[in-house]
Amino acid sequence: MNRLDKPVITNETIKAMEDMSFFTYSQIFDDLLIVAQKETNCFVLKTSDGLIIIDAIWPAKEAFDAIIGAIKEIGWNPDSIKKLVLTHGHVDHTGCGKWFVKQYHAHTYLSKEDDIFWQEHPAKPDRPKTWKDYNIDYYLQNGDTLILGNKTIYVYSTPGHTPGCLSYIFPVEDNGEKHMTALWGGTTPPRKKAEIELYLKSLEYFIKMSIYKNVDVALSNHTAIDNGLERIAYSKKRLSYMPNIYVIGSDGFQKYCQVFRIMGNDMLKNHEHSGHLLS
Ligand SMILES: [Zn+2]
Repeated sequence: MNRLDKPVITNETIKAMEDMSFFTYSQIFDDLLIVAQKETNCFVLKTSDGLIIIDAIWPAKEAFDAIIGAIKEIGWNPDSIKKLVLTHGHVDHTGCGKWFVKQYHAHTYLSKEDDIFWQEHPAKPDRPKTWKDYNIDYYLQNGDTLILGNKTIYVYSTPGHTPGCLSYIFPVEDNGEKHMTALWGGTTPPRKKAEIELYLKSLEYFIKMSIYKNVDVALSNHTAIDNGLERIAYSKKRLSYMPNIYVIGSDGFQKYCQVFRIMGNDMLKNHEHSGHLLS
C-alpha cells in the first residue's frame, strides 16, 4: 500500500486553524477529554481535585465556549477548572486562555523562555489581537512534575519548535485500565538549521523518556498529524467492545514519532527554502 509518511500541510491548513465555525470533542479516556476545531485541539484532564486544561486552541470566544460546552456535555464541572498548562507560546496553543483566567481563575503554566518568546515574537506580528493577552503564573522546566489531586504531569523541555517548547507525559485510565500518554508539544520543525537540529535532538530525548515512562498512548495537539478528527469521530461512537484507538503501545508510540523525525530531516534538507508550517 502506498501511504504518506507525513501529512500534507498547505496554506488551507494554516487558514483552517482560525476557522471557528466547526468544533468537535470526545471523552477519549475516563479522565481525558479532547476538544478540537479543524486543525488544533486542547485536552482536559480530570483529576480528583479539579480539571487541567492543556493548550487552548485560538484566542476566540467561540473556542472557549466550545471547550466549556464540551466539559458540560460529558458531565464534568467547568467550575472545577484549576490549571491551564501550555505546550508553547504560539497563538494556536495559548489560545483562549484569557477567559480561563478571567472566569475560572485558572493558574497558568508555561516555560519562562516561551513566555518571553510569546511576548517578544508573536506568531502573527501584524495582528495585535493575537498577541500575548494574559500572564503566566508558574514557569515550568525540564524534570518538573505538575501535581493536582491524583494526577501528575511529567514535564520535559523539548526546544526547537519554539525556544522553550514543553512536552508532557501523564497517566490516564480507560475503563479503569491504566495507560500513559505522551504529548509532543511542538508539532512541526522550525526553519533555521540550528533550530531544526535542536528539534530533532529534543525528539530523541522525548522518545527516550517515553520508553522510560512506558508510554503507550500518542496525543497530538494538531489534527493533521494523527488523523485527529477521524480518531475523535471513532471515539465518540466507540462501542464498549471496541478498542481505544489512542492506545498504540510503546512500539506504536515510537513508530508514530517517526513523522516528526521525517519532517525534521526533510526540513533540514530544504532548510533554505521556506515551507508552510503549522505554528
Ligand atoms: Zn507552534
